Amino acid sequence: MTALIETRQWIYARRPAGRVGREHYDLVTTSLPADIAQGEVMLEARWFSVDPYMRIQQAERDTYDVPHPLGIAQRGGVVGQVIRSRDARFAIGDWVAGYTGWQTSAVAHGDALTRLDPDEAPVTTALGVLGMPGRTAWFGLMEAGKPKPGETLVVSGAAGAVGSLVVQFGLKAGCRVVGIAGGEAKCRYLIERLGAHAAIDYKAHRDVTALTAAVRIACPRGVDVYFDNVGGDITDVVIAQIARRARVVICGQISQYDGGLDVPPQGPRLLAHMLYQRASIQGILARDYTPRMDEMRRIVAPWVKAGEVVLHETIVEGFEQLPEALGSLSQGANLGKLLVRA
Ligand code: NAP
Repeated sequence: MTALIETRQWIYARRPAGRVGREHYDLVTTSLPADIAQGEVMLEARWFSVDPYMRIQQAERDTYDVPHPLGIAQRGGVVGQVIRSRDARFAIGDWVAGYTGWQTSAVAHGDALTRLDPDEAPVTTALGVLGMPGRTAWFGLMEAGKPKPGETLVVSGAAGAVGSLVVQFGLKAGCRVVGIAGGEAKCRYLIERLGAHAAIDYKAHRDVTALTAAVRIACPRGVDVYFDNVGGDITDVVIAQIARRARVVICGQISQYDGGLDVPPQGPRLLAHMLYQRASIQGILARDYTPRMDEMRRIVAPWVKAGEVVLHETIVEGFEQLPEALGSLSQGANLGKLLVRA
């Protein structure tokens, strides 16, 4: 009889209408055959990445992808250690990054895994600055934002994973950087730790007129590059302040994910501002830049090693907490990258 390895899985079971939580998942224990095929690797998960795209894929409609199927383990990025290997590239104990989702042990083909060197960089950076969020921030800003020295860059969701990297990459590009985030502590972090020139606490400016005044004060010459992670009212306000030939980078719309993707709210018409300022707007998607990962790492990894670029990690303890952790993204519970430790 084949020996079995026990694994726990969070099965995505019910589509959320609003905020996602435990009630949309089933926690099950199942078994994996201990015998793996040639070319396969079995890993034990140590770190789970919790990302807003997971909530996008829970929309009923197609987005940039088809909806996440019900009845399977939640997909997602993982860092783990090899416990069995039939691929010569991986030895037992090696650290790897893959996309094996919310399960404590998993089997993957070796081609779908990246071996990590913990002496080069902490392994969690594979889920953050040297992983998907880093790729999004780097290529989104540099290729679509095209920042130039002296320009004003406004970043929404600025204290999150992607946003806090865009702030730092914008500073390296010589921009005057203004971050928008929720709460005084996050705004202080943006200025004191990351070096942003100004920070706007959108929660302290509940109405659009007050937020508009704050953006005008922070950006007296208008906004040359707007890197948008959140959408909604914040974006309505910033786009009305764009400068001539501004570039608007649409990276995310997290303010709309808890239900708004299926039933979008009616916002103000923004296209006139694009016309007046001869501006351009571009949506960007991390997966389009996956083949250029090494290019990003060659530039960014030395900055990380030298401590010139940082990505704070908010760590939630325990596999059991994964659904709540995902729901907490829309509450702004995280500073920097949100991770769950197995
Ligand atoms: P994150 O910013 O680390 O976490 C989400 C943050 O969004 C929260 O901490 C919260 O910060 C803010 N937020 C939540 N609800 C909000 C609301 N209603 N209004 C304003 N801010 C709100 O997550 P991330 O991984 O870096 O992702 C940021 C954005 O980029 C998301 O929209 C995501 O979908 C997008 N993204 C896109 C790609 C791509 O390929 N295009 C790849 C990665 C991420 P506050 O406390 O400041 O509110």
